[in-house]
Parts: sequence; C-alpha cells; structure tokens
Amino acid sequence: MEKNITILSFGAGQDSTAILYRIALDKTFRDQYLKGKLIVLMADTGNEHPGTYQHVEFVKSFCESHSIEFYLITSCQGYHPKNWDSLQYNFQAHNTVMSVAFPKTCTDNLKIKPLYNFLDHYIARHYYSYDEPHRPKGKRYIKHFCKRYGKIHVLLGIAAGEESRIAKPSNEVDIFGNLIITNATWMDHCLQKVYPLVDLQMDRSACQTYIRSTGLPLPPPSNCMMCPFLSKQEILWLYRNYPEVFYEWQAYEQAKLNKFSNANIKSNLGVKGNITLAEFLAQAIAEFGHWTDEQLNEYKMSHGHCVKSAY
Ligand code: SF4
Repeated sequence: MEKNITILSFGAGQDSTAILYRIALDKTFRDQYLKGKLIVLMADTGNEHPGTYQHVEFVKSFCESHSIEFYLITSCQGYHPKNWDSLQYNFQAHNTVMSVAFPKTCTDNLKIKPLYNFLDHYIARHYYSYDEPHRPKGKRYIKHFCKRYGKIHVLLGIAAGEESRIAKPSNEVDIFGNLIITNATWMDHCLQKVYPLVDLQMDRSACQTYIRSTGLPLPPPSNCMMCPFLSKQEILWLYRNYPEVFYEWQAYEQAKLNKFSNANIKSNLGVKGNITLAEFLAQAIAEFGHWTDEQLNEYKMSHGHCVKSAY
C-alpha cells in the first residue's frame, strides 16, 4: 500500500481549483508536488454559494475520471465539531453571528477541524484496520502514521500576493539557527504544508488565466455567503442576487443584538462591528448602487476567499 500521502485542501474556489487542474493535467507539476497517494478533501461549511456547490458536483466527476480520490466532508458524516453543522446552524444554536470584530473561529470549526478529523479516520481505516462505527478521537492515527512514514504533505491554495495568510510555524529558530521547541502542535510535527501557487508565483489572476486556458470550468471564488468579511460590493451582490439570504443573515444579527441588548457590556457589535448589516448595505448602495449587475458579477468573480488570517 502507498505509504506517502498528499492532501489537497480543497475550497472549490479558483486557487485550489487551479492546483487540482494542474495536478490532473500537468505531469511536471504532479512530479514536483505529489508525494504518494493524493486525497482531495473539502469540508462543507453549509453556507457556500450555489455556484460553489455546482462546481463541487463537476469536481466530483472530474476527479473520478482522473482516478483521484475526492471527499466532500458534510456535517452528517460526524467530523464537524458540536454545534458547527454549518455556519448558520451555529448562529441559530447560540444566537450569534460571525463578526469582523470577533475571533475567526468559523474557519477552524468548519474547515480545518472537519478535514483533519476525517483524515485521522481515513488513515485509521486504511492503514490500521480500524473498523469501529465511530471515528477515533484525537489525532492518534495521523501521529502514528507520520512517525512511521514521515510528514503528510498538505497542498494549500494560497495565491502569490497572499503570503500573509501563510501560518507561521510554532517552532522558532534562535540566532544561531537552532530550533527552539515552543508550543509546537501535532500539526507542526505531522504536516508538511506546501504552497504551490506561492512557489510558482501564481496570483489570483494567473490562476484564472490558467483555468481558462484548460477549457475547464472557472468557479467563483469560494467563501461563505454570510462571511463577515464581505466587501460592500459583495454584500450588494448578495442583496441583489440572494435577498432571502441577506434577510436571513440580518435576522441572525438582530437576534444576537437582542440577546445582549440588556447586558452590561461596552458595545454590542454586529456582523460589521459598530454598524448593522442594514446600515452597511445602505452605504454599499450609496457607493456602488449605480453599478450594473454585470459590473458586480465581474467584481464578485475576482474577489473573496476564506479570510482566516493564516493556515
Ligand atoms: S469564508 Fe468567512 S465565514 Fe466562512 S469560514 Fe471563512 S472566514 Fe468564516
């Protein structure tokens, strides 16, 4: 059995799609970045755009026809943390919203944790004959695996120009070049994170050009429909194209504001901090309301990704 594993952390946006297409179509790229067996993993946030889900359907058949293992990790499979079945489920469960002013716990709970919970179970089943009905707890099998066979390579779709999103390793090097063991996590010990687009200096626009050159579908950038980091243009795009989603989001925000309206806290913040979504939309309309649908679509196709600061 193949003992090396390379994971492609797939978000179904333009960056990770460019990597997937290059793996399938470009032998030099494949030889450079694939170590052993490739597994493409995508954790479902439950709040992706319809265009993203549509692209996932294409990717499933694309991977099948190239004999690539692809898994969409949905909440019903049991790998998502409690109360994080989806972004909106979490809002409902706690009368909360994600806000630009709060820590970005969503990426960790909706994308990173489900992916590695799945991977631990995958390794347990495929390499250690684990056949319990429930997934193992912790990252025991990933740790075992990497002790025996070396680090697992994880390809991450961060484009050139977005290097600030690359996580710093927890270990540091002193002035003599010696490694200082600080708060290194199992990830530092077990994963070799690789950023092919940064290596190859492919920025977002180069990814789009490459995807177009293949004749394969160009997906929209992937981020949650209710991501607090949407720009004014993106919020306006959402309001024009999916008003029901905007109003649902606004209702979650109102529930959060109501919950803390009598609390003795300094400020009761919403999705956009001190201003409400409705106020933010009003600003967006004032500044960009004259844009045509086509202009907004064009903007939307080139902006946005999950903005977890580093991973
Ligand atoms: S896209 Fe936005 S809301 Fe979704 S997980 Fe990333 S930061 Fe959170």
